[in-house]
Amino acid sequence: MPRSLALTILAALVATVLGACDPASESGQGEGAGWIALTGVTLIDGVSDAPIPDAVILLEGDRIMAAGPAAAVSLPADVEVYPLPGKTVIPGLVNLHAHVGRAEGMAYSLDLYSRERVERDLHAYLHYGITHMVSLGNDQAPGHAVIADQRAGRRQGVQGARMYTAGFGFSPPDGWLLDNPFLNRPSTPDEARTMVQGEAAKGVDLIKLWVDDGRGRLPQFSPEVSGAIIEEAHAQGLQVLVHLYALEEAKELIRRGVDGLAHSIRDHPVDEEFLTLARERGIIALPALVGHGANLAYADGPDFLDDPALPLLFADSVLEIMGSREYQEGLASAPNLARTREDYAIAAANALRMHEAGIPLGIGTDSGPPGRFQGLWEHREMELLVDAGISPMEAIRAATLNGARFLGIQDDFGSIEAGKVADLVILDADPLDDIRNSRRIHQVWMAGRPVDRGTGAP
Ligand SMILES: [Zn+2]
Repeated sequence: MPRSLALTILAALVATVLGACDPASESGQGEGAGWIALTGVTLIDGVSDAPIPDAVILLEGDRIMAAGPAAAVSLPADVEVYPLPGKTVIPGLVNLHAHVGRAEGMAYSLDLYSRERVERDLHAYLHYGITHMVSLGNDQAPGHAVIADQRAGRRQGVQGARMYTAGFGFSPPDGWLLDNPFLNRPSTPDEARTMVQGEAAKGVDLIKLWVDDGRGRLPQFSPEVSGAIIEEAHAQGLQVLVHLYALEEAKELIRRGVDGLAHSIRDHPVDEEFLTLARERGIIALPALVGHGANLAYADGPDFLDDPALPLLFADSVLEIMGSREYQEGLASAPNLARTREDYAIAAANALRMHEAGIPLGIGTDSGPPGRFQGLWEHREMELLVDAGISPMEAIRAATLNGARFLGIQDDFGSIEAGKVADLVILDADPLDDIRNSRRIHQVWMAGRPVDRGTGAP
């Protein structure tokens, strides 16, 4: 066989194999893209304790083939090289508590929930490098339809962050979120089990439970009913995240098997009993400081409204109102602000104590309502964790690998390592110097391609 022909056949074989290896394409496009190397970057891979200077990230199709110091990564001959000197790369961010699809200007209502608004919000998340988000309660059919399209690799479903849903969620009859029709409200353990089975049949990814008596104003689930919800969720292979406020309720729920706390404990400092229990049961904690501190941030004079992406992604009316002195002074003089401040101080101290006790923290933000900006809010949560005393490296890990582990997707996501999907956030400055540099985004890559942040389409 002439040498040139042999080479042609070899090349064709390689192309076939590479094409076949291209996993049923995340991006829904499927062609075996060539090798790409991002070089000269500072790499924060999500697992190492220190950044890797002058690193190379080698991609093939939607996957990372190698990532590490330049000296340790050998490049194939036909690689396309993108030198990115001065840039820092972190993994795509994972938010475990947020809301989508129901804001329009300053209006916020479940009646507004639509596919168009869900996709708009997923686009905002991806613009800021949030590649995975969990919508924690009150999702309706259009949200489920977006998820189905995303997971089938249909193009319209990949124009934003990958969405996970807790479906409706669970709150007691006449309890928290009064008048909200998109909730399960069981009054007995049997009803609870049937309703969890209904959620599982809808294909939810997890179960959301509201345990909050509104500081004594509202009825609460009995331990038997919340226990039945958790038990049945586990029987269906679903984890349970809980909205809560109080320390003793957190202990009770952890004893009954809850998998994570979607808010901070805000009534008391966490104690040894809680820390031991939480550690032994392996729960994740989402402090949601940015959610609990939202009114404080506006009352004290927000320092984030000049973020350049806000006018691209959010309504002028919202930015105008949030930036107005009337709004900010209204919050500053609100009678409950002092209480919010006390609660926040407890929440921030509890985040640090849990972290120091070895309880994994994740990012949950409750972003979604007007002025709680999807995408930006997740970066602010990292900032507030750092303000609370957690290192920037650990805040980034909370926002990446810890979230991926909770979702059980850590083999594919959550860090920049060989074999994982290439979800990358490329930054103009190093977030270890100042965590606010995580917002200085040069590019977002999803599944091996740069995202068009104007439209959100990869
Ligand atoms: Zn929420």
